[in-house]
Amino acid sequence: MNFEHTYAQLPAKFWQRVDPTPVKAPRMLAFNDALAAELGIVREADAADVFAGNVVPPGAQPLAMAYAGHQFGHFVPQLGDGRAILLGELIDRHGQRRDLQLKGAGPTAFSRNGDGRAAIGPVLREYLISEAMHAMGVPTTRSLAAVATGEHVFREGPVPGAVLARVGASHIRVGTFQYFAARRDTDGVRQLADYVIARHYPEAAQADRPYLALLETVARRQAALVAQWQHVGFIHGVMNTDNTTLSGETIDYGPCAFLDDYDPGKVFSSIDRAGRYSFANQPALVRWNVARLAETLLAIIDDDGDAALAAASAVIDAMPGWSAQAWLEGMRAKLGLATNEDGDEALAQSLLEAMHAVAADYTLVLRALCDAADGREPDGLLALPRSPAFDAWRTRWAGRLARDPRTAAERAAAMRAVNPAVIPRNHRVHEALVAAEQGDLVPFEALLAAIRRPYDDGPDVHHYMTPPEPGERVLQTFCGT
Ligand code: AMP
Ligand code: MG
Repeated sequence: MNFEHTYAQLPAKFWQRVDPTPVKAPRMLAFNDALAAELGIVREADAADVFAGNVVPPGAQPLAMAYAGHQFGHFVPQLGDGRAILLGELIDRHGQRRDLQLKGAGPTAFSRNGDGRAAIGPVLREYLISEAMHAMGVPTTRSLAAVATGEHVFREGPVPGAVLARVGASHIRVGTFQYFAARRDTDGVRQLADYVIARHYPEAAQADRPYLALLETVARRQAALVAQWQHVGFIHGVMNTDNTTLSGETIDYGPCAFLDDYDPGKVFSSIDRAGRYSFANQPALVRWNVARLAETLLAIIDDDGDAALAAASAVIDAMPGWSAQAWLEGMRAKLGLATNEDGDEALAQSLLEAMHAVAADYTLVLRALCDAADGREPDGLLALPRSPAFDAWRTRWAGRLARDPRTAAERAAAMRAVNPAVIPRNHRVHEALVAAEQGDLVPFEALLAAIRRPYDDGPDVHHYMTPPEPGERVLQTFCGT
């Protein structure tokens, strides 16, 4: 691995040098060959030792990043990588700089009361769901390797430990800016902003007000990202400012989950008691998070404080429009619409209402519409719900399609490329993780193979398309930290 270290070249207040703590018996659970190839990594005999943190590869400069964050609305001035250690940056085969980080690699200066470790369940969960998001075209950190440590960690009781090797465009969060802003360290904020612009958004440097351009770009990226989450029925569950990236990638898969039946108020996370991060709240909450980023940038956006505030507020005010636009564009594609009409948003909304009324499965309904668009009546697993509202919606949709230029076959093919058949359904993820905790990786591997081709609905993946039986339903998810 040819490491580079641009983040480590920032002043020492941005990070703390720390080596991973070796573990007893590293054993590879999963290795992402395709991602490794992208990064120019060759899997050698000691790969488990390297990705468990027992062997620090030549050229690595392990460090923990400093950050702060609002957790469920409450500001914590120091969080930081309490169990993740950045080994360095790699330039991938597309010329993109990517971080390689070990999550669960042992305590750091930011561990507070935590053990610095991760359990096998949450590690494999992040592996599965991040790879599913990637396969569905949703920007996300990636999973390169999951390694069992041969040690136990103590959560509710003892559980097997693991380390996740995670790859991201960077690991800079809204909370990283908050860390310096909370210390009234304007130079730190500026250095970080310059770093993010150089690394992610070099075009912002050409703008009249580069830090305003940075804010606007991040706001647009985050609005688009959350729209994509909603397109696939994803609920992040912990949208704290320390889990909102500057790169626009999804990060930190904790108690996240996917909708089965469509319910906009749905919450799975056991710690989200007020429903702050419910499915439908996500655009409003990401806007709240970006507003916290805006506050950190005010001092550097413009020397005139009033002008800075007005310009930053305009960005935050524009976010609901960007979110709605991104959502609508994606929904048009999902409904097979190649043209724009004023009534399209209402058409999409009324489909959701019809689904909600009969607790229809979000993923299956949209997938079934691909067949319906082709003039076939979806049946079996894909049979569409029957209700007066649903039937009326179909008539309305058919009328709308009649005004759209594509042939039925073209439309159906385009729809099948944006409406996943296979998502990592909560009950299948749960089954796979329970088996893995007991040493059986077969269900995990089979599920991983299925979610890697989400647009394939052949008979071999019907098991993964099937919604939960009442007894299989996952009602609550846990952080596991
Ligand atoms: P998360 O909920 O994973 O986004 O983490 C929130 C904060 O808690 C971050 O600062 C993490 O580094 C820290 N944290 C989570 N789990 C642990 C752990 N087991 N040991 C130390 N720090 C942790
Ligand atoms: Mg986090």
